[in-house]
Amino acid sequence: MTSFRAIRIEKSSENYSTDYVDMTDGDLMAGDVEVDVLFSAINYKDGLAITGKGPVVRRFPMIPGVDLAGRVTRSERAEFAPGDIVVATGCGVGEAHYGGFAQRARLSGDWLVKLPDALSPARAMTVGTAGLTAIFCVLALEAHGLSPAAGLAVVSGASGGVGSFAVALLAKAGWRVAAITGSAREADYLRAIGAAEILAREDFSAPGKALQTQRFAAGIDTVGGVTLANILSQTQFDGAVAACGNVGGMDLPASVAPFILRGVALLGVESVRPRLALRRDAWARIATDLDPEMIDAMCEVIPFDQALERSRAIVTGKIRGRVVIEMP
Ligand code: NDP
Repeated sequence: MTSFRAIRIEKSSENYSTDYVDMTDGDLMAGDVEVDVLFSAINYKDGLAITGKGPVVRRFPMIPGVDLAGRVTRSERAEFAPGDIVVATGCGVGEAHYGGFAQRARLSGDWLVKLPDALSPARAMTVGTAGLTAIFCVLALEAHGLSPAAGLAVVSGASGGVGSFAVALLAKAGWRVAAITGSAREADYLRAIGAAEILAREDFSAPGKALQTQRFAAGIDTVGGVTLANILSQTQFDGAVAACGNVGGMDLPASVAPFILRGVALLGVESVRPRLALRRDAWARIATDLDPEMIDAMCEVIPFDQALERSRAIVTGKIRGRVVIEMP
């Protein structure tokens, strides 16, 4: 039986603990495709799962890691064969089903997408759930009828994983992008990936008027809370904001004024459910829209033995872009 290294979260009535452990294939959960995990990546959600700061994990024990790229070693599904490179993002992986922070995984083929040839597994993990979420946000704004001619697009949490991809994808689509960041030192990085303006996080952190000067035609918000309320208040007539995150809070202390007096739309975006056709389209668009060098500019690759420490750091906002884990 193949043995492998994994990060495992355990919970008892007194204790919530996470550590590296040795496991075997016999410990894996049910599934019809087995993979050797090549790369994973650290998402904010993984930080919440590992620290126990958010109710992410839905069964214990759990191997975290909502993203993985791997090579198929066994498949009961006609669409996958040994040797294929596949990716899984979301779909309950790392929450209800053992995830990517392990050298081996057994998954449902329903959650897997074959990687487009243009993307390497490491670049696919740089994209991961963060990049997919960003592209789902861009698609939601486009489906609402918005295009760069409408004006300025704003992105909050801009130097984070979702934020970085949102900035790059909007800029690539022709938008002039304003990046809201709490990290002044990341201004050069944000300009390099496509931001035209840098806005200070503190200017959006205090409660403001229900209707403020109209600045933005479109927005992608990863922060929630007062920041999202202020973005909505500064969104122009018929503009829209795609909301996907909550690093600044789960609440939304907002007024209905932007909705009923300016026709502003709030578009909810989630990337967890399978919806395979949408995922395949999103991967294809990422492969064509983003240059490999742009993806690499957002990525730091770390060895698996640093994954635990860096996952704890993401919940304190101490990560720029995407941290990709290379499996031994
Ligand atoms: P990151 O930690 O990589 O990025 C978050 C960024 O937000 C930070 O880099 C920082 O950017 C900013 N930030 C951090 N703390 C605060 C704060 N207290 N107030 C305001 N800004 C803050 O996380 P991800 O990009 O992986 O995820 C971002 C959010 O999106 C999370 O809430 C996550 O759960 C959510 N998400 C939702 C998904 C969905 O399906 N809806 C899928 C994926 C993620 P800066 O320093 O530039 O301000």
